[in-house]
Amino acid sequence: MNRPVLHVLLLLSLSGIPALSQVNDTAKLLAELIRINTSNPPGNEAQMAAFLKTKFEPLGFQIDIVATPDPHKAHFIARLKGDGSRKPILLAAHADVVGVEREKWSVDPFAGVIKDGYVIGRGAIDFKGGLAVFAQAVMLLAKNKIPLARDVIFLSESDEEGGQYNTSTLAKDHFDKIDCEFALNEGGWIMKNPDGSTRYVSISTADKSGVSLLLTAKGTSTHSSMPRPDNAIFTLSKAMAKIADYETQPKLIDSTKEFFSTLEKTSKPPMSGYFHDLVEGSDPAKVHAADLEIGKDPLLHAIMRNTIAPVFLTAGFRGNVIPGSADATLNFRTIPGTNVDELISEIKAVVNDPRVEVTNAANRGAPARVTPSPKDTELFRALVQQSNAVFPNVPVTTYLFQAGTDAAPWRSRGIPVYGIYPYPISAEDLTRMHGNDERVPVESLQQGTDLIYRTLLKVAAK
Ligand SMILES: [Zn+2]
Repeated sequence: MNRPVLHVLLLLSLSGIPALSQVNDTAKLLAELIRINTSNPPGNEAQMAAFLKTKFEPLGFQIDIVATPDPHKAHFIARLKGDGSRKPILLAAHADVVGVEREKWSVDPFAGVIKDGYVIGRGAIDFKGGLAVFAQAVMLLAKNKIPLARDVIFLSESDEEGGQYNTSTLAKDHFDKIDCEFALNEGGWIMKNPDGSTRYVSISTADKSGVSLLLTAKGTSTHSSMPRPDNAIFTLSKAMAKIADYETQPKLIDSTKEFFSTLEKTSKPPMSGYFHDLVEGSDPAKVHAADLEIGKDPLLHAIMRNTIAPVFLTAGFRGNVIPGSADATLNFRTIPGTNVDELISEIKAVVNDPRVEVTNAANRGAPARVTPSPKDTELFRALVQQSNAVFPNVPVTTYLFQAGTDAAPWRSRGIPVYGIYPYPISAEDLTRMHGNDERVPVESLQQGTDLIYRTLLKVAAK
């Protein structure tokens, strides 16, 4: 046992909070979850629901397995009843994982291997580790018979990584089952320094949204023996070259400013200076220099701007025909508050060619307007307070999550959602997420369980 863990247990016993008795149970539970192969497609989340029922039901939880039209997919809801004086708190975790390139793994990705202080397997980070931590913390409330002022709802979701029976469908049909005052979900990172100490705790209060634009170039469709100047493929290629050379401007929302200020405090010169210049933002030349340096990190590059990624290119159908049109799909990940019509105008200006049309590829209009979750809630304050207790002297910051999560059904209904991957992790381990030999430290799972359990005691106990 190392000093931080000892320190935490000491604090727990001094504060009268029941100490964690099953410090290794989260890692064991995670190994069991990994052994249920929920690679999506097909997902098999119904099997996960059946397994979780065996864990939660004996502890007195109300179990609700919400079936979907696909018999292999289900959402699992376990509710621990409070006295009803406060609105419920919800902890949401997706049960599905992405597939694997099995030959590139050093262990069986679905064996739930615990080795060298790590739990290794698909989903260890995203998000079975979080599912295990949330489940363990919630079950500890029941095991320790904590009287509750509000219901605590645990949700294991299907189809987060893809597919149609996701939380949006669940929310549309059964919102009463998952209605709450506030919720926890995947999101911010607890990052480690290279020496293993914890660098910062970040809690996401908003996610970036995705929108795809379609670029269509038109030309004359004719025999390839007689090329004309209006070739659709050349026109599209020239437009794409302009977009490749274009960079969007940094757009820092409050959570990103707070996050970069935390990075300033926890890094050394010259990086600390670049973070300072970017957040301060008064000198355009300094902002640009900071952007170039900070943007070398793809994650930091992404959270400070709308990003552009070409994802499909379509043209032509046979070797002796010049096609009449050529298409490219650009996937944008946008900062909250971005307007799709403005995005289309921005790209039209970059392309600056009337032969190229720019339209919304999905034709669905703007993504749902989701405002970032506020910091002045009981749950956010408890998370910060308990992070300070579990990770003394480590800064806690808000964060803009670089991709989409399942938070939208709640945030779009005005319910605050705070995102966290509840385990300290190194930058090296983070690159294994959705990659090979995905793993999470056993000790980090203990710390995360401690953080979430203490937060629940603060927010839900009587
Ligand atoms: Zn995830």
